[in-house]
Amino acid sequence: PAPLPRRPIRDLPDELISQIAAGEVVERPASVVRELVDNALDSGATAITVRLLAGGVRLISVEDDGCGIPQDELPVALRRHATSKITNLHDLETVATMGFRGEALAAIASVSETALLSRPQAQASAFLLDARSGEIRPAARSHGTTVEVKELFFSTPARRKFLKSDATELAHCVEAVRRHALARPDVGFAIWHEGKLVEQWRATFVPSQARPGEGSVQDALARRLADVLGEDFVNQSMAVLHRAGPVTVTGRAGLPDAARARADHQYCYVNGRFVRDKVLTHAARSAYEDVLHGQKQPVYALYVEIDPARVDVNVHPTKIEVRFRDSREVHQAVRHAVENALAAPRAAALAAAAP
Ligand code: ADP
Ligand code: MG
Repeated sequence: PAPLPRRPIRDLPDELISQIAAGEVVERPASVVRELVDNALDSGATAITVRLLAGGVRLISVEDDGCGIPQDELPVALRRHATSKITNLHDLETVATMGFRGEALAAIASVSETALLSRPQAQASAFLLDARSGEIRPAARSHGTTVEVKELFFSTPARRKFLKSDATELAHCVEAVRRHALARPDVGFAIWHEGKLVEQWRATFVPSQARPGEGSVQDALARRLADVLGEDFVNQSMAVLHRAGPVTVTGRAGLPDAARARADHQYCYVNGRFVRDKVLTHAARSAYEDVLHGQKQPVYALYVEIDPARVDVNVHPTKIEVRFRDSREVHQAVRHAVENALAAPRAAALAAAAP
């Protein structure tokens, strides 16, 4: 084929850059839910309400009682690479917030009709910013933020065609909230769809200075796991608590009998962030090597706490993947953590059987 005639190099318009970035960050309504709940958690919210219409395609609204956004910063929040969470490279290497790239709101606003409604505690009234028009006007609400995302992908019909049925999109949205909820039993969550309450998980008080593995944390977690995944998950699992150098692993590991046909109850977190990671899943799987046979999938919720300097979360735009500085160290810690938890009931049974 004839080569294309050369065209001049040009800077892309801002809007188009955001739409390109949205391709990576916003795949479906659930991606928006994930980003907005991330932001709500970063704002220090204690209660988060998600409201959806048509599986999130017509409307996603996420409401929190967090620190809010001051009136003059509302337009900044929507700007690309604008963030309150890091200011330099050192912050990036020790980042404790879910967000830090300053991309999500800009990306979401570029493929939907987005509005921000917010009020910091100290501000006399709330203000509403309409992203499309840039118009700001006073509005009513108590402290906190509501982000409203309407008509997702209305300007990118090619994307919209990839969406599945409302029921399927809703299920993905609920799963996105579930992943957050399992990491934060101290925060209350509610999900509404078409005006009906779909899920509600109440907050449990966790002392702010409590450390992973402490009784109060384990209890709150067990309650949240029971609420979200069902009583059976907790009744048929063992508490995990293992410290190995810079790595602490807590959570619960299901007994072999609780294994399922599908790998749908396998949750892994690194420093409070839900991740999909081959090192972690392989480590967990290998702990079940001797007790679980065939195709059955173990169930577990594992929380890895590690010095932030030993893990890179800036690998993937959605931060669902991480890179460990020493993945063997993490693999061993997780494997031993789960093995120890699974050995406990057998040890107890042996002790009970002894004369
Ligand atoms: P990031 O979370 O990576 O900083 P976002 O685009 O998601 O980037 O958000 C941009 C900024 O808007 C955040 O840094 C934060 O200051 C502000 N913000 C967004 N959502 C909220 C919220 N729910 N409550 C308070 N501030 C928020
Ligand atoms: Mg964010």
